[in-house]
Amino acid sequence: MSDQFDPDLRDAVQFHGHLCTGLTLGYRVAKAALRELKADRPHDEELVAVVENDSCAVDAIQFITGATFGKGNLIFRDYGKHVYTFYNRATGKGVRISENYRGFENDARYPELKKRQDAGEDVSREMDQFKMEKTAAILRADEKEFLNIEPVAAHPPAEAKIRASVRCAQCGERFMESRGRVKGGKIVCIPCFERI
Ligand SMILES: [Zn+2]
Ligand SMILES: [Zn+2]
Repeated sequence: MSDQFDPDLRDAVQFHGHLCTGLTLGYRVAKAALRELKADRPHDEELVAVVENDSCAVDAIQFITGATFGKGNLIFRDYGKHVYTFYNRATGKGVRISENYRGFENDARYPELKKRQDAGEDVSREMDQFKMEKTAAILRADEKEFLNIEPVAAHPPAEAKIRASVRCAQCGERFMESRGRVKGGKIVCIPCFERI
């Protein structure tokens, strides 16, 4: 890992396990969000992140902004979009960041490589080379051309409330009441409900 990288990116790579395009995208989004919300204190619990995908990018978001699942200030919406909304509870400011990178849209190499790979050819070296180029381009890209950043007025989603827990009638383990299912007239947990 090269020394020329920002320590935040270097550490995020360590956390994530590898350097990839998704992580790099998440890194740029996280940096922009902290700057826009003036929440430069990392791991500030006042910060809430709503992520609309569960890709590699979200590891960088979690690592750099400190919004994590465990703290309840990372909210996942399964929309499959590179859209990230951040709120600073201390200031009431919010920002929506979406990815708008067109640099590779017209790059014919990827579909070509994919075709050869699907046909059984070993293209791993060329594929790695392509991905590293893309990663480097994301790092260099002019933020204005690469990200759409717009303020949002809405409030962050409500904080997760502590809900009552109940015991599953089948496995006996405790679970959040709101996750209960009814099976044969008994309240059970989701894994037991889905087990045939
Ligand atoms: Zn990755
Ligand atoms: Zn159960």
